[in-house]
Amino acid sequence: MGAIFNKELSEIRLNELFTSDEKCFEFLAEAKWEEGFICRKCGNSNYCPGKSPYSRRCTRCKTEESVTAGTIFHNCKFPIHKAFYIAYNVCKGKEDISTYEFARRLSLRQMTCWNFKTKIQHAINQIDSLTEEEKVSIQKIFR
Ligand SMILES: [Zn+2]
Repeated sequence: MGAIFNKELSEIRLNELFTSDEKCFEFLAEAKWEEGFICRKCGNSNYCPGKSPYSRRCTRCKTEESVTAGTIFHNCKFPIHKAFYIAYNVCKGKEDISTYEFARRLSLRQMTCWNFKTKIQHAINQIDSLTEEEKVSIQKIFR
């Protein structure tokens, strides 16, 4: 899974990502549009900034795509830097961290951590059942 975690990330960079939503969005945008922007609706490659931070809006059909759309961080109900922390540790972590431990470290409810961890594991296990688009997004993010 996923390009972001494929690149070797330094401890400093990881600490940034694990504490700042801003850095996560920036990072996701880089990974997502690494090969340039292509509108998912009309295929146009020209864009201007969208309304929400780091989103991009197609200059032709005006469709706006958020930076999290099509990734496992889409519709995440808690701060994305916490989601990043869980995702990184589930995909790359050397230790198996329980959802209770995630909850304690991140000041989240255990159920929240469990749901998100399950979502990630599901994505890893069920990658074949995902749509092409989701697969590409996940591979890009977690290759
Ligand atoms: Zn378009």
